[in-house]
Amino acid sequence: MQLMNARWNGQFSCFDLVAKSDECSRTIVTVGDIEIGGDDFIVMAGPCAVESERQLMQTAEAVAAAGARILRGGAYKPRSSPYSFQGMGVAGLKLLRKAREATGLAIVTEVMSGEDVDLIAEYADLMQVGARSMENYSLLQALGRCECPVLLKRGLAATLEELLRSAQVIAMNGNQQIVLCERGIRTFETATRNTLDIAAVPVLKTVSRLPVIVDPSHAAGVRSLVPILARAAAVVGADGLIVEVHPAPDQAMSDGEQSLTFEQFRNMMADLQPYLAIREDAQRLSPQLVVNGGTD
Ligand code: PEP
Ligand code: MN
Repeated sequence: MQLMNARWNGQFSCFDLVAKSDECSRTIVTVGDIEIGGDDFIVMAGPCAVESERQLMQTAEAVAAAGARILRGGAYKPRSSPYSFQGMGVAGLKLLRKAREATGLAIVTEVMSGEDVDLIAEYADLMQVGARSMENYSLLQALGRCECPVLLKRGLAATLEELLRSAQVIAMNGNQQIVLCERGIRTFETATRNTLDIAAVPVLKTVSRLPVIVDPSHAAGVRSLVPILARAAAVVGADGLIVEVHPAPDQAMSDGEQSLTFEQFRNMMADLQPYLAIREDAQRLSPQLVVNGGTD
């Protein structure tokens, strides 16, 4: 055992449905026949936004062939600018369903409002709460009442305590199938779009029972950094990734600069292999939480 940290215990144990406890040390989130938080490293990939049938089907086939298990694609987009593309809505959801039928990939897509939960749950296998919605409590409550697993992204300026507080809101309302996502936080650094808080992974894996994945695309903001950050995520013990991929990133309607081409995604997946082999070691090296008492 490496380290005990009583302070974390005090800070996080109040979120009793998502914190690690003597009774429950890990939750496996089941998405169809996929287990997140188990032994496998689960990669979710696809475009930022669903733009057309051709774009989505081509991407779905390419990412499935490269080893992704879950297709991402926003049909409802929370854009920083009101003048940007806001997503295809229901037509986009229908394309996601079609891509699932064609490839067998499960679907993760964003839900922005509590009112949309029932509709989107008809199409999604995993409901994404975007960074901008992490503290939308009426949305979190509605997701708590729904049967579908939830991917909860860390807010742009949220602490890990706040992230787990939001997870607790979902769990308190009845849904404990929650995956956490570190997607970079806003700092004074401008060379990258956000700052990937890589330490968030072992901290969350220590204090929480929930699986943790990393989004290197929104963290980096530039595609050349995505494979190396993906590698870092594997090495620190993440349970998977969510990555943006587009057939022609330069023509993407959103987040093209951070989207990988098919070839780059294929290479990223192949290059990850040796790092996945040492990923289990992260568990051994990670600090251990002593739930009842303990010292620094
Ligand atoms: C997205 O996944 O395309 C997205 C908008 O992510 P985030 O909420 O992390 O900014
Ligand atoms: Mn995006």
